[in-house]
Amino acid sequence: MPARNKIRIYETAIWVSIAVCLGLCSLGAYLTYKQYRDMGVLLYASRKTVSRDLADSLRLQIRNLEKETFKSLSSQAPDELPALPPGNEASFFHMPFRILADGKIEGVGSNPLAGRRLVRETEAPPAEYRQAVRLSHSSAPLERKIKALRDASQRTGLSPEWQVRARTQLAALYKKHQRAAEAETIYSEILAAPSSVMENLAWPTPEQISLARAETLSVLNRAKAVPGVLSQGLSFLDSAARNTGSYRREAYIMNSLRILQKTGLEVPRELKDARREIQSLKPIAGAVRHVRDVSLPRELSGKTSRSFSTARWSLRGYRDNVAVAWKPAASKADSGMIKARGVVVNLRKFRQHLDRELARTADSGSLRVLLPASASEEEMVPFASLGSEFPYISIGQPKAEWENHLGAARRPFAIAGLLSGILGLSLVGGLLILRRALRRELKLARMKTEFVANVSHELKTPLSLIKLCSETLQLNRLKGEEKRQEYFEVINRESDRLGHLIGNVLNFSKIDAGKKDYELKRADLAPLLNQTLDAYLLQLKEQSFTCRRDIPSSLPDVMADEEAVAQALINLLQNAVRYSPDKGEISVRGSSDGRSLLLSVKDTGIGIAQEDQERIWDDYYRTAEARALGTRGSGLGLSLVSHIMEAHHGKTLLSSTPGAGSEFTLVFPLANEKEMEPENGR
Ligand code: ADP
Repeated sequence: MPARNKIRIYETAIWVSIAVCLGLCSLGAYLTYKQYRDMGVLLYASRKTVSRDLADSLRLQIRNLEKETFKSLSSQAPDELPALPPGNEASFFHMPFRILADGKIEGVGSNPLAGRRLVRETEAPPAEYRQAVRLSHSSAPLERKIKALRDASQRTGLSPEWQVRARTQLAALYKKHQRAAEAETIYSEILAAPSSVMENLAWPTPEQISLARAETLSVLNRAKAVPGVLSQGLSFLDSAARNTGSYRREAYIMNSLRILQKTGLEVPRELKDARREIQSLKPIAGAVRHVRDVSLPRELSGKTSRSFSTARWSLRGYRDNVAVAWKPAASKADSGMIKARGVVVNLRKFRQHLDRELARTADSGSLRVLLPASASEEEMVPFASLGSEFPYISIGQPKAEWENHLGAARRPFAIAGLLSGILGLSLVGGLLILRRALRRELKLARMKTEFVANVSHELKTPLSLIKLCSETLQLNRLKGEEKRQEYFEVINRESDRLGHLIGNVLNFSKIDAGKKDYELKRADLAPLLNQTLDAYLLQLKEQSFTCRRDIPSSLPDVMADEEAVAQALINLLQNAVRYSPDKGEISVRGSSDGRSLLLSVKDTGIGIAQEDQERIWDDYYRTAEARALGTRGSGLGLSLVSHIMEAHHGKTLLSSTPGAGSEFTLVFPLANEKEMEPENGR
């Protein structure tokens, strides 16, 4: 198969291999990268699932635990109130109490809640009030409804609280029938009542009345008065802070903001501050909700009926303490002396309790749980919460620790990705090197083939000349001694050329086989150079070259193998002749600069391009210009020169301008004074 086709096949094979390698390694790297990237998500997701299950089972456990506690608490008579659960200093249900029919509160320890209004709303309304309200909801004429409610509100037999309730019902009736002005008058009168009356209002609370008034004012387009009324409502809440839950505060603030927004008014500063505070109490509000929805036994939590007014339980409290009170279910109602039972829950302890429970349950499995200190909750990666209603982070890890876990899980993937990257790169690198080596080898093979053709041609030309001359001489066809001498000279010259060429090839093959030795002897090269030139320059003149020789009769000694030096000089001279198609001048110069001996051969030939000046010293290398010239050559001459100069510890210099000519200079180091012994170099 022709070499060119072979190259094509090899090259295609290499390119296909490179493409396959790159493809496979990129795929590997991509897959590991994907796994690496997904690792965080996977880990997170799996933890989340575990945590969700955990949270669910936890919820159940906590609920059962609390149910038990509540059961025992709610079934005890007051004088038999149970001792607090074991380890009571940590218990979050820290104060069971009960409310008697006369509104007094009985319990363990002192009651922090003053509890006056705790479950008043559970009292049954008086008959007069009930009748008036029932009428107001019937289809009776409006004037009759108004009269009934007004009468009830003025009935002296009714306590001030029930009177206020009747009046607010009346105001609501006015409002409903677009008589806002009258409603406003009623609200403003109620709110002007002495504080002793206001403080005892359990429902509607003073702040609820303020809200209703503010809303009526906005309907009446008296927006300017709205902020003042709302601030007053807030001050009612503040003065009763210990009795009201943050729950009610939140509801009040939200409603106030809604009214202000509707009337397009600015939010007063007090309300802004209050809103900020409520935001900061959010987790507590969540915990309160949790107590209601999760912790309280079902029959106590009023879950069957969602409306607040009919719920069987009530929550009061602020910040850490919240009182949970409930009316005993009808079936369980006792002598009637007891209006309600309750317990004060310490939310801080409750949360600690949840922490402990979470940790205990979680640690029993394979998952290690770190509970966040609440101060640094933001920095946590939350894994579980007890539902969105309860924004309390239950299980989490500090961010740094989570990142450590993630890092450790990702490491093998990072290493695998890196390794496949390295593998891919080294495979591709190896293949590229292989491709280069292959190209070089194939090129060398091509050059060797060319070399054989060139050398055969070079051998053939002098041989035919010699044969022609010797035949002519043998047949004695020549007239005159001069002519015969000329023929002998041709034979002589051509055999020299032949000898020289064969010498070059032989030397080269010796070098190639590593068998070439040089015999370096201390010598003055001037006579040798002159002799070699004598024979050669004559020829050159005959070929119409102008020759210039500048070699002194004596030069400083160098260590040299004379035969090799002569061969190098002839190689340079032959090149000067071969690559000067327009003849011109050839100058040979020998000189010394005190440290080295310089021998230069300069021509006015085709010159050598810059990019070729390095490569012409390689085996078989011939420039494109030389080949275009049609001159035959072996491509070995300069490679031999360079080898010879290396053996002489010298160097070669080249200065050449394409189209103008070249100058090759051989630089020999001068022989040392003490260097008397012959030295052998390769
Ligand atoms: P060749 O037998 O081809 O002359 P060489 O090794 O002697 O082999 O030279 C290598 C190549 O260097 C030549 O083919 C030619 O292209 C270039 N070269 C050498 N000497 C000269 C010169 N004096 N002028 C221009 N080109 C030269």
